[in-house]
Amino acid sequence: MITSSEIKTLCAQAPDFDDIACGLNATKKAPKGMVAETRKVVAIARKFKQEVMQPYTLELDRRMQQDPEHLPWEFVQKANQWGFYSMWIPKSFGGQGYNIPSLSYFLEETASECLALANLIGVHYLAITSIFSTWNIGVISRLCGFVREGEKNNKPCLLSTAITEPNAGTDVEECELVDKGNITCIATKVSGGYVINGTKVFISNGHVSQWHIVIAYADARKPSENVVILAVQNGTRGFSFGRKEHKMGVKGCPASELIFKECFVPDDLVLADPEQHRKAKRAAKETGARFLDYTLAASRAGVSAFGTGAARGAYESALAFALKTEVDGKLLVNHEWAQSMLAEMYKNAALARLSYAEANHANGMYGLFSLLQIKPLYYYFKYLPMAIVDKWIVPFMRLPVATWLFQKLYLDGKKPEAFRRIAGWGSLAKFTGTDAGVKNCHMAVELMGQAGLRQDHKVEKMLRDAKLLQIYEGTNQLNRLNLFKCIAAGQHPQVKVFEYE
Ligand SMILES: Cc1cc2nc3c(=O)[nH]c(=O)nc-3n(C[C@H](O)[C@H](O)[C@H](O)COP(=O)(O)OP(=O)(O)OC[C@H]3O[C@@H](n4cnc5c(N)ncnc54)[C@H](O)[C@@H]3O)c2cc1C
Repeated sequence: MITSSEIKTLCAQAPDFDDIACGLNATKKAPKGMVAETRKVVAIARKFKQEVMQPYTLELDRRMQQDPEHLPWEFVQKANQWGFYSMWIPKSFGGQGYNIPSLSYFLEETASECLALANLIGVHYLAITSIFSTWNIGVISRLCGFVREGEKNNKPCLLSTAITEPNAGTDVEECELVDKGNITCIATKVSGGYVINGTKVFISNGHVSQWHIVIAYADARKPSENVVILAVQNGTRGFSFGRKEHKMGVKGCPASELIFKECFVPDDLVLADPEQHRKAKRAAKETGARFLDYTLAASRAGVSAFGTGAARGAYESALAFALKTEVDGKLLVNHEWAQSMLAEMYKNAALARLSYAEANHANGMYGLFSLLQIKPLYYYFKYLPMAIVDKWIVPFMRLPVATWLFQKLYLDGKKPEAFRRIAGWGSLAKFTGTDAGVKNCHMAVELMGQAGLRQDHKVEKMLRDAKLLQIYEGTNQLNRLNLFKCIAAGQHPQVKVFEYE
């Protein structure tokens, strides 16, 4: 018989249990209200999908094939009217304060209809995530205020995130790689702010956003220690849009080139820079790494949800086809081989969903939105009238003490395991969800034969769209390495990932 003291010792010797049990640990703590709220989010997404997206998906894709320069303003306007650009901004920043994991379910739902349209909403939250990862509460509060105003005034205010450069994609997504990357977007410190010079490419939603969160570097010789994160508004002198990429999929969501020539950004729009870190006695490289971990852990869960949506959309299209098509004298859906394929596709989508749920649990336990999922705080903000939030909380968030407090909590107060877990699970979810999306699109085309290749069945578009997911937000190869680094080989100090010459 094993004794209780032996069990205690064995438990203490298995710290990796917490690496694989984010969900178990999180669900016992999470507020129950999140479940009903998520159900509501899914119901809203389904109505939006039916009323706004379904009639528009193929029309937009056809239009983009004919005129790649078209911008889908009509859709952005509609999403703004439905409140989707402030729905997942915390109430204390003037948003509607829906729980963040419910965003993934929303993205799955909308992506199951159209990845381009889902991106037009979801990518905005990649930028929201990136500003929150700096914990510069004053600037975050101002930027969120613009989104809210845009919703009130019916003038959509979207944010984009600009990290990728013409010759640095994977390199700028990993702190260990950035010093070897070919960095050219430079922010030079001048009196009262920074001057940016350089170009960013493939920036989703660039042309339809009002603000761009730009990750530049104060010194190209040592970028990892010189990250500067700035908010640049359309119309700022020295900032202009370049070309819009003509890509194989996700055509309705622009991927834009952003050009900076002697573009001055005042200090009050600088979210993070080496000077702030120096003043706070914080190591610049480590703070930059934390920024990437917080941002990508949350946004990769979202991209996984996009992939899951594609996997589900492909399954649903294939099932609908099999339910009405006769093959060899009986319905395709009643052939055993088709049932087996459909079951496999259903499983792919279900496991992909579990992967983003687990990544969200990791984030809820250790990451960006851990505070928002503490029961008393969750219910306090849920029921607090907006008038009181506006009168007392929003002004507090703009005081320097709020930034000091949150940075102490989130930049100084977290253990390395927290970052390992959120980054590892974010990567696992990203490649699991997006690989499932591509796999199911292939299977749907296979099952449907020539019908699957025709544009009016949507599946060929889904396949073109889903492929892009495997590349952005860090290629799936990079994410596999990151999972290996953070969790899979986390217990073996002799393993070196990203440290080769
Ligand atoms: C549709 C779309 C939307 C995008 N939206 C945005 C956006 O909003 N904001 C933004 O900043 N960027 C965006 N991107 C850019 C995206 O993040 C990059 O494409 C991605 O990081 C990969 O970089 P890359 O394309 O330069 O590939 P590269 O870095 O050139 O990689 C080429 C190949 O080499 C592999 N590789 C590279 N380095 C390593 C390494 N060290 N170890 C092992 N393998 C390696 C890669 O896995 C890949 O197979 C978007 C891209 C796409 C396609």
